[in-house]
Amino acid sequence: MRGAARLTGAPVLRAVDVIGAKRDGAEIDAAELAWLVTGFLDGSVTEGQMGAFLMAGVLRGFSRAEARALTDVLVASGEQLDLSSLTGPTVDKHSTGGVSDATTLLVAPLLATAGAKLVKLSGRGLGHTGGTLDKLESIPGFRTGLDPEEMLRIAEEVGCVVAAQTQRLVPADKALYALRDVTGTVASAALIASSVMSKKLAAGAGTIVLDVKTGGGAFMKETAAAEELAELCVAIGREAGRRCAAIVSAMDQPLGRAVGNALEVAEAVELLSAAPQGRLAEVVLELATLALVEARAGGEQAAVAGGGERDAAAAGGGRAAAAAGELRRAWTSGAALETLARMIVAQGGDGSVCERPRDVLPTAPVIRDVLAEEAGSVAAVPALPVGELAAVLGAGRSRQADEIDPAVGIELRVEVGDLVEAGAVLAVVHARDESVAQHACERLGQLVALGGDGIAPATVLRRMGGG
Ligand code: URA
Repeated sequence: MRGAARLTGAPVLRAVDVIGAKRDGAEIDAAELAWLVTGFLDGSVTEGQMGAFLMAGVLRGFSRAEARALTDVLVASGEQLDLSSLTGPTVDKHSTGGVSDATTLLVAPLLATAGAKLVKLSGRGLGHTGGTLDKLESIPGFRTGLDPEEMLRIAEEVGCVVAAQTQRLVPADKALYALRDVTGTVASAALIASSVMSKKLAAGAGTIVLDVKTGGGAFMKETAAAEELAELCVAIGREAGRRCAAIVSAMDQPLGRAVGNALEVAEAVELLSAAPQGRLAEVVLELATLALVEARAGGEQAAVAGGGERDAAAAGGGRAAAAAGELRRAWTSGAALETLARMIVAQGGDGSVCERPRDVLPTAPVIRDVLAEEAGSVAAVPALPVGELAAVLGAGRSRQADEIDPAVGIELRVEVGDLVEAGAVLAVVHARDESVAQHACERLGQLVALGGDGIAPATVLRRMGGG
């Protein structure tokens, strides 16, 4: 604790001293962090001072203790959801964001069908990344602005609910994130972990699973940085008394085949209507399995720990296999699709989207194919420019206030490792008018690169927890 005076027992701090300490590489303690963030919220610490502090931390690094303390400060800045009235284990999931990532639309009904309760607070898309709220709101009538009572009622009745993050939860993160966005201070594992985990902890679930993306379309371009972030998030969650697990997954190419809001809902429904296959299904099953194992492990922990490490690993593997089998049955039996339909109806949406997605969802007036000019093996479908192109079509935003067009986007017909013939369809563009469609077709023709070695890259790169 540094300060000008401690005569009254309360810390008397000066922002310039805390900034200087961080600049010189010192660790800032929990009370100082709380003082700084509170001062930023009430205006006694200026934006310039907070920005300088954040930049000093980005350059010098934040310790794990600082990340944890910052998480606590953020959580304490607002209300927290109380899920204790729900019957069954409460589960939450988070993805660090990517292109064609509709995992929530699939993980939520799968876990609910398996008996968990999932109250998911989601965000909107920004830049090249999509947002779950935008996707769900492409379903006619679907409401995401629910109050806590309604969220709890739907979660209890259906097993899952997906709603907009309320302003009352973690207001300090909103203010801090806006400042980080314009001061070049987003890229810090500690700041991202505290931002993500504060929202997850405030949302109240006993079990939290995270999908930390890595690669060209992700925040964390390098796998080692994504692993560091995942480890930090898991540690913060566990130290806060929650069960927590994570995967690190590749976001070099879009995860699913659809990029665009209604198109991604259609893809999720169609995927859930058949046996699980493809990279999106793989990530969904990984996350749901980890969540289910973690959520159920609490009661068995003592017995497993008594059996020694090898027994614990074997028991963990057995539990994972059983959970994966149960989730596959929930998928292939159609039960998870029914749960999704019930959630959609409970939130005011048209449940028949789960039977006839392409009839119910909005469609774009101009639909054009992108054809391969030559034969070859697909070497790259780069997530970042494909996501940016979908935003140009109108599926995404460059600023929070921008309107989006739910109907437009891109459907990819190929992924890395596929062999294609000349004239094969590489992608389908769904556009509002001819000129933007033509631009998107030309750009996609450049982006989908041929000349690969025919090997499909791995999607799930690392698992943490779930045993
Ligand atoms: N997502 C968040 O919620 N916070 C960050 O800091 C970065 C990504």
